[in-house]
Amino acid sequence: MSGITAPGPAGQPSASWVIWVTCSQDQREHAVADDEIAVAFLEHSGTYRSLCGHTILPQSMVEPFGPRCTRCHTLRERRRTTARSAASAAKRIARRLLRSTP
Ligand SMILES: [Zn+2]
Repeated sequence: MSGITAPGPAGQPSASWVIWVTCSQDQREHAVADDEIAVAFLEHSGTYRSLCGHTILPQSMVEPFGPRCTRCHTLRERRRTTARSAASAAKRIARRLLRSTP
């Protein structure tokens, strides 16, 4: 089985979107970024590259979730933090530009 992680607050970059997919090889649930899902879909590969670098061969959707990969969890949190920082920086720059516009 797999699960979709809800996005952060409105206005956050899509970098925080991941889908958790359980691999049939190691029975662990790994995080797959949304752009990686799109690539795998277009290539009809049937496999996904997780945030931790593992190649996932998804297990049947009727199987229970596996335990989450700690490396993927850590990397996902880092991506979310980076995305929030980038969004905050963009807002600060936009405010400065608006203030300096005559
Ligand atoms: Zn992983």
